[in-house]
Amino acid sequence: DLAVSRGEVRFEHVDFGYEPNRQILWDVSFTISPGGTVAVVGGSGSGKSTLARLLFRFYEVGGGRILIDGVDIREVSLRSLRAALGIVPQDTILFNDTVAYNIAYGRPGVSLAEVIDAAKAAHVHDFISALPNQYDAEVGERGVMLSGGEKQRIAIARAILKNPPILVFDEATSALDTRSERAIQDELDRLAKTRTTLIIAHRLSTVVDADEILVLEHGRVVERGSHDHL
Ligand code: ATP
Ligand code: MG
Repeated sequence: DLAVSRGEVRFEHVDFGYEPNRQILWDVSFTISPGGTVAVVGGSGSGKSTLARLLFRFYEVGGGRILIDGVDIREVSLRSLRAALGIVPQDTILFNDTVAYNIAYGRPGVSLAEVIDAAKAAHVHDFISALPNQYDAEVGERGVMLSGGEKQRIAIARAILKNPPILVFDEATSALDTRSERAIQDELDRLAKTRTTLIIAHRLSTVVDADEILVLEHGRVVERGSHDHL
C-alpha cells in the first residue's frame, strides 16, 4: 500500500496514448515538491486532463513512470493510491443521490456537521440551505438538477472533506461566475497552500502562485518556468 509521507509527485518521461498509433503525451517530466504547486496550462486537447487521469491510474503510462514519494504508482494498490488523491474535476458527475451523500462520498461515517462545514468552505451551503430538502435534496441523474458551478462547488466541498495530501484541480473555476469564482479561488488557494497540488488551467492569471508552470502543446511541454518568467 501507498503510505504518503512527504507527498512528492514526479512524472518521469511520461508517454501515453489512449489508442495505438495515436500518441497524446510525449516525454512529460515534472516534479511537485511536497506541499508545492505545479500548474499546467495549454489549449483544449493538449493533454492536461490526461495527466490527471494517469496520476489516478485510470490508464497506465505508455512509457516512463509516475512516482509518489519515490514509489512507482503501479506498485501500490489502487485503493491506497486513490485514498491519497483528491480531485476537483473539470466536469463533475454526481451520483443520483442526495447532496449530503455526494459531498460525503468516499468518507463513510462522516457527520452531517462536517459535511456542512465543508459546504460552507466551498461557498455552497447557502445554495443547499435554500433547496426544499436542503442536504437531503436529490441531485438527479448525474446531477442534472444542478448547474455546472453548483456541481463544481459540491466537488470542492467533497475534496475539502476528504482532505487528501495530494490534490488536483482541473480547471476548478471554469464553470463558476466571477463573483463566486473569486471566493472559491481564495478557498482553493488556501487548500493548495497546505498540500501537494497540481492545477490545470487555461489562463496564466489563475496560477500566479505556482512554483512552476508547464505549457503543454499537443502533448509536449514547450515552455516551463515561474509566472514572472512566462
Ligand atoms: P481541455 O482543455 O479541452 O479540457 P485537455 O488538455 O484536458 O483539453 P485531454 O482531455 O487531456 O485534453 O485530451 C487530450 C487528447 O486526448 C485529445 O485529443 C482528446 O481527444 C484525446 N482523448 C481524451 N480522452 C480520450 C479517450 N478516452 N479516448 C481517446 N482519446 C481521448
Ligand atoms: Mg481537460
